[in-house]
Amino acid sequence: MKCSLCDASLGPVIVGSVHWRLVLNHNQNLLGKCFLATRRHFEEVSSLTEDEWLELHQQLAAAS
Ligand SMILES: [Zn+2]
Repeated sequence: MKCSLCDASLGPVIVGSVHWRLVLNHNQNLLGKCFLATRRHFEEVSSLTEDEWLELHQQLAAAS
């Protein structure tokens, strides 16, 4: 199953990693506004794998 958030064409991608993409938000009401999107579809945060959680933590730490 796919949705607009896990679609491979989602972009523009600022930073890509194994499990996540940092995507520039088209709405730039706040300059530089972006969001993290996974590379695979999931519907529950609890379904993230251990590797995905670890990399999410790394991405958030890198962004702050
Ligand atoms: Zn999806």
